[in-house]
Amino acid sequence: MQRSCLALFSGGLDSILACKVLQEQGIDVKAIKFITPFFSHELKDEKKARRYKEKVKQRYGIDLEVVDITPEYLSMVGKPPHGYGRYLNPCIDCKILMIQKALSLLDTFNASFIATGEVLGQRPMSQRRDTLRVIERDSGAEGILLRPLSARFLRETLPEKAGIVDRKRLPEITGRSRKKQIRLARDFGIEDYPAPAGGCVLADPILSKRFKKIFSKWRDYGPEDCILAQVGRHFLLPAGGWLVVGRNKAENEVLSGLVGPDDLVLRATECPGPFCILRRSRNVSDIRLAAQICARYAKTSGFPVTVGMYSDDVTREKIVVEAVPDDKQIHSFMF
Ligand code: SF4
Repeated sequence: MQRSCLALFSGGLDSILACKVLQEQGIDVKAIKFITPFFSHELKDEKKARRYKEKVKQRYGIDLEVVDITPEYLSMVGKPPHGYGRYLNPCIDCKILMIQKALSLLDTFNASFIATGEVLGQRPMSQRRDTLRVIERDSGAEGILLRPLSARFLRETLPEKAGIVDRKRLPEITGRSRKKQIRLARDFGIEDYPAPAGGCVLADPILSKRFKKIFSKWRDYGPEDCILAQVGRHFLLPAGGWLVVGRNKAENEVLSGLVGPDDLVLRATECPGPFCILRRSRNVSDIRLAAQICARYAKTSGFPVTVGMYSDDVTREKIVVEAVPDDKQIHSFMF
């Protein structure tokens, strides 16, 4: 067995510490950060990925690789064999998938086992003792999946049996309290770490509802739909169009980078207003309604509003519309 492992790396404190406690024992740790449409997708941009790797190396002394698992993740998230958590979070299958992917990369990185930052009893669904066992079994990583932070409460793994990892030197962390992790971070001289994650977008009550709608309405949904769903206000128009409206300057900027080849972009031309994307419809009444909703959020006291429209296959056009008259009507299209 090699003294090297692949560690699942979310960027949270637990995953950092899992790497550090193994490095401390002389293990060569390669951290893997996975990309899906639901987390870390910004790292698809090579420059951002490079900067992120440099930051992790500089801050924590950890070598990191970024691995895109978008296709596998999308097929899993619509129908996860172990079901969902409270919202649309398929935590057990999410972990299984990531561990399976890490398993398939062991040879590439000359590593002999996998580590995660999972903590026994920290989360209700995916970190119970029985669930940790299921994840280990169903991922096919039995014996070579080490959870260094809680390993002393779990069955001994092969790297421990082989003497590569000294079980007695691993910390004994369980439960929801983060006191031990904070103390351990201090011992490693780590002060600059992310606050506990606000949560995965799949576990967000509003976003998960929107994803559910998208999954059921458009069977051909793709990664770009899942990413678009996370920004702005969303409207489902009567002829099937999906309108997304930026809520502020930052969102307008993000949306301008998410325009797809078949999308229609709408924006007020004579006053400040939101960046809007109409997807999945070129129906005339949808386009008119989209322009009226766009006008509703434009910063003007006078109506009507001129809305400009463009896309790859439509030359610039303008339409003059009255804004959707009342909030009740506009809310009826929101999702
Ligand atoms: S919270 Fe999200 S990222 Fe974390 S295990 Fe669950 S589905 Fe995966």
